Amino acid sequence: MTIAASEAGARLTIDLAAIARNYRRIAGMTTGAECAAVVKADAYGTGIETTGPALAAAGARTFFVAHPSEARRLRQVCPEAVIYILNGLFEGALDLYASLNIRPVLGSRDEIEAFSAFCRTVRRRLPAAIHVDTGMSRLGLDLAEAALLAEPGPQNLDFEPALVMTHLACADEPGHILTPKQIDRFSQVRGLYPGVPGSLANSAGCTLGAAARHDLVRPGIALYGGRFRADREPLEGVVTLAAPVIQVREVRAGETIGYGATWSAPHLSRIAIVSVGYADGYLRGAGSTDRKSGASARVNGVVCPLAGRVSMDLLAIDVTEAGLIRRGDLATLIGDGITVDDIAEAAGTIGYEILTGLGRRYHRVVAH
Ligand SMILES: *Cc1c(COP(=O)(O)O)cnc(C)c1O
Repeated sequence: MTIAASEAGARLTIDLAAIARNYRRIAGMTTGAECAAVVKADAYGTGIETTGPALAAAGARTFFVAHPSEARRLRQVCPEAVIYILNGLFEGALDLYASLNIRPVLGSRDEIEAFSAFCRTVRRRLPAAIHVDTGMSRLGLDLAEAALLAEPGPQNLDFEPALVMTHLACADEPGHILTPKQIDRFSQVRGLYPGVPGSLANSAGCTLGAAARHDLVRPGIALYGGRFRADREPLEGVVTLAAPVIQVREVRAGETIGYGATWSAPHLSRIAIVSVGYADGYLRGAGSTDRKSGASARVNGVVCPLAGRVSMDLLAIDVTEAGLIRRGDLATLIGDGITVDDIAEAAGTIGYEILTGLGRRYHRVVAH
């Protein structure tokens, strides 16, 4: 559903050209490997129908989603793409894998058996990825299961093993001891599946050099301008969120703002109210209280702190330092030097959660 600017609390702009530039940057950092694109969770909140084709135009040929519903949406706009479903085999949706040419990432013996049986039924050796767990303990065969599966030779499986992959648990934390262990274990796995392409690296993994590269890299968050390593600046921001001020009010020293009266004015202050709240994915934890500083917005070119708790549909910004602000002036909540990671930090979370939680009530604009 598209929402008109006149009926929305804020305008959310997705910069597809920035996503394309970020894609090319990462592809340039990982030469020798194919650079896929992870577009699960509605392309990290940016919109799979628009972001998918933009990434394809930038050169991406292989895409990863989490659910069959996402694969179906992507297939409609990217007819040529190779599409993998990371969360494995959805047995109620088996037909999709054959009819829409979608590949499951098989992560357990049950899934391998079910998909093998399906391939025998349709008499086609359909392609799939094999997920091997090397330290995440979430999805994937363990090393012994992977060895057993490989024993008759990958050519003798009932499905076509098109990719063997694993996922890094801690690559965003430089120097974490688990990362070299996972890299090492995955080299062993590769040895079990000669001739099958391999994939290890998420965004952070793309910075780890040749040993982590293998044949295909799988960046997600870096494409969308989120922080992917604790010690590195993110790539270009792709999201701008701008909300018109719906009211400006003066509060005297000692007066409080919002639920719980958790913020009191240190002196005569001017407060701007905007129509964005936690129901729009602007997390309540990013609010400001007398004891905790919160996120900021840019108003009239000045970075202004939030004042008080974030409500469901509203938030308050202390614009005392921003000069004369009137109803209708724009407050930039994301963009213009304020990143998704800044809001995440104020809320005690990560940029991924801010992006994937971007609200459904905004007037959405796609910039090319
Ligand atoms: C989400 C995901 C990615 C992408 O991770 P980023 O940290 O966003 O780059 C890659 N591989 C798997 C298996 C994933 O679940």
